[in-house]
Amino acid sequence: MTKTTVKKRGPRTKSKADIARSIQMMTEQYGPFDQEPRLPPTDELVFTILSQHTSDINSSRAYHRLMDRFVTLETVASADIPEIERAIAPGGLAKIKAPRIKKVLNRIQELNGSLDLSFLREMPLEDAKAWLRQLPGIGPKSAGIVLSFSLGMPAMAIDTHIYRVSQRLGLIGPKVSADKAHDLLEEKVEPDAVFNFHVSYINHGRQVCRAQRPLCPECVVGRLCPSRKKFMSKSDLTTLEAQERQSISGISGAPIPHVPQSKTPDLKS
Ligand code: SF4
Repeated sequence: MTKTTVKKRGPRTKSKADIARSIQMMTEQYGPFDQEPRLPPTDELVFTILSQHTSDINSSRAYHRLMDRFVTLETVASADIPEIERAIAPGGLAKIKAPRIKKVLNRIQELNGSLDLSFLREMPLEDAKAWLRQLPGIGPKSAGIVLSFSLGMPAMAIDTHIYRVSQRLGLIGPKVSADKAHDLLEEKVEPDAVFNFHVSYINHGRQVCRAQRPLCPECVVGRLCPSRKKFMSKSDLTTLEAQERQSISGISGAPIPHVPQSKTPDLKS
């Protein structure tokens, strides 16, 4: 008798419709979000390098000191590395970031003849991503920040909060890397929902679905979440589910989750 081997299937991930619903629920909870003006694309790229492994305040200080000292990025591109290093010192890791910034700026000039990256907006998204990713040290997240936040394109920029919430909610499988998550989520989130996705998921990750001890009983998307049983005791979960059932059938008693609204967050953490 021939033996039939049953292939083990990985956990099923959320459908496009479920993801759209989660974005809508979180946007109603934390939004509406204004798309605030950001830096021009090359400045945004330099800013993402400055923001690696440091706080928003420090990277901001480093960027402003850099621009106060050199005025234009063309001057930064031709400056000596120790000079750049001194200017960005408040941002931390200046010895690594100064040569990285100079290298990226010089490469953009070589490839493009200028430091103006606005031409990326006219390219198909995949080509624009590939163009940025050929620059030294620029990965999917940095490329996504520039394309999405500076140029308004529907590119993913997955920070630690978006990655964690996406895994817990089952948008991506547990073994998917953050780099790979960019492509997978780009396929699953509608282009016109990408901005709200970024901002609402970051807010949710910071305020409710924290890395340690997430606040599942207050979670606006708890009903969609396959992970909350890991974080709640059996009895608390049973009570919550009963409250949710009552709430759906119109009987009052379910808790109304509330978290304050936030402004557009940075994707640097
Ligand atoms: S139910 Fe808990 S684990 Fe799931 S998204 Fe909400 S806070 Fe995160």
